[in-house]
Amino acid sequence: MTTIAANLQAVKQRIAKACAAAGRAPESVALLAVSKTWAADDVGVAAASGQLAFGENYLQEAENKIDALADLGLEWHFIGPLQSNKTRAVAEKFSWLHTVDRFKLAERLSTQRPPGLPPLQVCVQVNVSGESSKSGCAPEAAASLAREIAALPHLRLRGLMTIPEPTDDLTLLRSRFALLRQLRDRLNDEGLALDTLSMGMSHDLETAILEGATIVRVGTAIFGERQRH
Ligand SMILES: *Cc1c(COP(=O)(O)O)cnc(C)c1O
Repeated sequence: MTTIAANLQAVKQRIAKACAAAGRAPESVALLAVSKTWAADDVGVAAASGQLAFGENYLQEAENKIDALADLGLEWHFIGPLQSNKTRAVAEKFSWLHTVDRFKLAERLSTQRPPGLPPLQVCVQVNVSGESSKSGCAPEAAASLAREIAALPHLRLRGLMTIPEPTDDLTLLRSRFALLRQLRDRLNDEGLALDTLSMGMSHDLETAILEGATIVRVGTAIFGERQRH
């Protein structure tokens, strides 16, 4: 077995164990393999062991991989910060975008989504840690942004996404993930039907699953340590 295949199995076991601890079904958490900085060949190896959903952060790099692997029927998620003038490639080539944090971006994506494709599935990125340097909308702004996005014709709002600040304080980390879940629940009480919480990465997926993550975004634990990009 290749390292990537073995790592994938280990990550799936971590997910299953975390689900068991949380009293959740293992199928309730989807694994998004974050392949940023890794070659198309590495993605191909992961795909050969059954992983079909991949997350990318850098557009040019992602487009090259998407084109190179077009025959494999993979599902591509854009999970990096997105500039307003770069929306077209995401609208045309991706199934999901996890990092919508302003209406202007959503509006452009809806306009640019090709009519032959299903709606682009999106998450609103929320800055749950209140750091000024991080992207994501403020928790107080998430509800109105979500309502506006839900009304756009060529997007399908699936839920919320977050990247909490790095911390060894598990209680604090849990409270950050819990905040995202509470925001989602409140929006669902208003009738929005959001089924997705995109939260948890290599080092904190167990905590995220405990608080309701439905997509964990995992890079390092599958592909290994990245070189600086
Ligand atoms: C890189 C990245 C990940 C994966 O992080 P790992 O620590 O390598 O698992 C997940 N989400 C986002 C938004 C990322 O940029």
